Amino acid sequence: MSTYVRTDNNKGNCADRPKVLCVLGTSRCGSTVIDRTIGKLPNFFSCGELAQVWQRGVLEDQYCSCGKRFSECEFWKHFAGRVSNDTAEQCAQYHQQVIQGNCFIKLRRTLNTAEGRQYLEKMTELYEYISKRSRAAMLIDSSKNPFYAYMLNQMPGFDCYVLHVVRDPRGVAYSRCKSKWDPASQKYLPQKSLSYSAVVWVSRNLLIEGMFRWRRPIPYRFLKYEDFVRQPQHESEQIMQWMDNNRRNSFHNCFSQTSKDDNEHQVAGNPARFDGHTEIRLDEKWRSELGHGQQVWTEFLTLPLLLKYGYKLGRR
Ligand SMILES: [Zn+2]
Repeated sequence: MSTYVRTDNNKGNCADRPKVLCVLGTSRCGSTVIDRTIGKLPNFFSCGELAQVWQRGVLEDQYCSCGKRFSECEFWKHFAGRVSNDTAEQCAQYHQQVIQGNCFIKLRRTLNTAEGRQYLEKMTELYEYISKRSRAAMLIDSSKNPFYAYMLNQMPGFDCYVLHVVRDPRGVAYSRCKSKWDPASQKYLPQKSLSYSAVVWVSRNLLIEGMFRWRRPIPYRFLKYEDFVRQPQHESEQIMQWMDNNRRNSFHNCFSQTSKDDNEHQVAGNPARFDGHTEIRLDEKWRSELGHGQQVWTEFLTLPLLLKYGYKLGRR
């Protein structure tokens, strides 16, 4: 496996600055599967949903995907030991009130406040830690939140890339209305109504398009989860080449979608990150499990974006 050793922390002319792949989308869009699959490629490291690190990692000491608590995990424990609870609480509060908010103006306005600067400084320290510890040049963060990606792009010393992942909204809505056990928090994830999930699917995808697809402040790539499932190796290699400046290295024999890597330490994300195998499949139970009225209602709420992304109406 090729490795990377940091030599430059400043935004400048270093061609080999570490890169951050920000996976954006809605909950249950398949981001964890994509994160884990690409994370096994040489020079990549899968971080999970790092936006949650302050609350779920430092403060709540939830379980890492390796099976150990955050403070006991071989990868994260040295970082956990150097962050005070006060700092983590302030970062978690900023994340909840600003990053998870729905107001881009508020985000822009707070970037230069003490809270905004501290959050960016601590995220930069976290990424520098991950970069050195993993020795990977390309770090994957599947937090999915476009405001968070905008913030990450302000980090000095890192180049951000946006991977916009879209999954069929009927599959997303069906998945979110089912209860799911989360081994990290030892609780069931909250269930959401079909209507809520459909409205969030539209608003989140429009927001990502508005912030990154139309304006292109940073490199942007669109990926349908269904396409990834059909050709996981091809799509993974395309992403790898895109981020690796099209050097067209040979990635044959690097791709693995079966075994869990000993070096997987995702902080937060879909409970599937605890599975021993990265199961790449469509999961189209919604076609048989959703009632006809529920399916039509979800389609109604998500038109015309549903059609724009190439999904067909009906169950087939
Ligand atoms: Zn771990």
